[in-house]
Amino acid sequence: MHRALYPGTFDPITLGHLDILNKAAHMFDEVILAVADYTGKDSNFNLEERLNLCNEATNGMPNVKVMSFSGLVVDFAQKMECNTMIRGLRAVSDFEYELSLALTNKKLKPQIETIFLVPSLKYMYLSSSMVRQLADLKAPLTDFVPPPVIRFYEQKIYPKT
Ligand code: ADP
Repeated sequence: MHRALYPGTFDPITLGHLDILNKAAHMFDEVILAVADYTGKDSNFNLEERLNLCNEATNGMPNVKVMSFSGLVVDFAQKMECNTMIRGLRAVSDFEYELSLALTNKKLKPQIETIFLVPSLKYMYLSSSMVRQLADLKAPLTDFVPPPVIRFYEQKIYPKT
């Protein structure tokens, strides 16, 4: 069984994340979408909300499992018996950060490989932080996030503002 881990904060999950996840789900028997409990960012979503949204957004993907983790991602990958981690690479700006992360993780656990997948062109400049900014300004989000995230903003966030 070839199982891969796709870790991130998914704050919130976007169509770019789902694009990468979809590609990974076609390459591996099982993909664990691993939601980090710590975001280190000013967020609209707590861990439970991020998990629920990831679960709803991946509902139709039978070989995708959503889990949360805390601590080192390589420890979680090992615990889940994943020797491959997936990360997405967008524009050049991602490269240096992702490379240093991959090399650090390799140093910590040499048996775990990081594989980079490139999204479709239309998601190349899409990020969760961009979505959070757009949502603050109540911009339409249909082209950027899956329906559960839109519903969440409409039901839980917008009514308070
Ligand atoms: P983190 O906070 O750990 O960077 P994110 O949840 O923002 O995690 O992203 C998880 C992974 O998905 C990262 O490798 C990131 O580069 C990638 N990613 C995020 N948005 C996109 C996108 N639009 N297209 C492709 N990859 C993406």
